Amino acid sequence: MAQKTTELYRGKAKTVYHTTDADKLILHFRNDTSAFDGERIEQLARKGMVNNKFNFFIMQKLEQAGIPTQVEALLSDDEVLVKKLDMIPVECVVRNFAAGSLVKRLGVEEGLALTPPTFELFLKNDALHDPMINDSHVVSFGWATAEQLAEMKRLTLRVNDVLSKLFDQAGLMLVDFKLEFGLFHGQIVLGDEFSPDGCRLWDKATRKKLDKDRFRQGLGGVVEAYEEVAQRLGVPID
Ligand code: 5GP
Repeated sequence: MAQKTTELYRGKAKTVYHTTDADKLILHFRNDTSAFDGERIEQLARKGMVNNKFNFFIMQKLEQAGIPTQVEALLSDDEVLVKKLDMIPVECVVRNFAAGSLVKRLGVEEGLALTPPTFELFLKNDALHDPMINDSHVVSFGWATAEQLAEMKRLTLRVNDVLSKLFDQAGLMLVDFKLEFGLFHGQIVLGDEFSPDGCRLWDKATRKKLDKDRFRQGLGGVVEAYEEVAQRLGVPID
């Protein structure tokens, strides 16, 4: 098994380490929780562990559905071994119901059902507040080719199909989510993480928010909500 060596990159919620295998990295999920492009950061006990196990569970489900992911092995409570991807600096967002920036941008009511789901692209750049971009920006600036972008979109919509059903069975609405992809020896592979930090999940009956909006909106009970979602899905957490 690849051993952790030097730090490659420290993100807002995860630290990435090189390993003794040039093709593998280790992601360390920290308890840090940030909002508003890193302007507000707090430590939330257990969050790193919950998100690491949640992410591993979801990525396994996606692999089983034929979606290539970077995840290789769960190493510890808060570490996972992953393929070293050449990350594409573009966020792919699917929305099944209106919330967040869509509500602000278009003035629609929160919770409005979107049929078919929307697909949006954002540039991953905190200093610019992750601006919305379109297909032609991605290709013209060379962030991805048209073929790579088409594959990212296909995989993102497939993830939505798989996960909408999974969450629905657990009594949850998958409102929206963000994915990031990278290249592994030329293939588009799902990278980063899937956790309640990067998606919106509402209880189907009450529409109670069970995701990072609890932190963004100061609603409290953030990790408790993540643990409730994990427990409903059957994610093994101590
Ligand atoms: P919105 O555009 O409404 O702010 O976000 C849409 C969805 O993508 C939400 O589920 C949100 O959590 C996720 N998302 C968008 N940008 C980011 C980001 O920079 N970091 C994280 N963790 N999630 C994001």
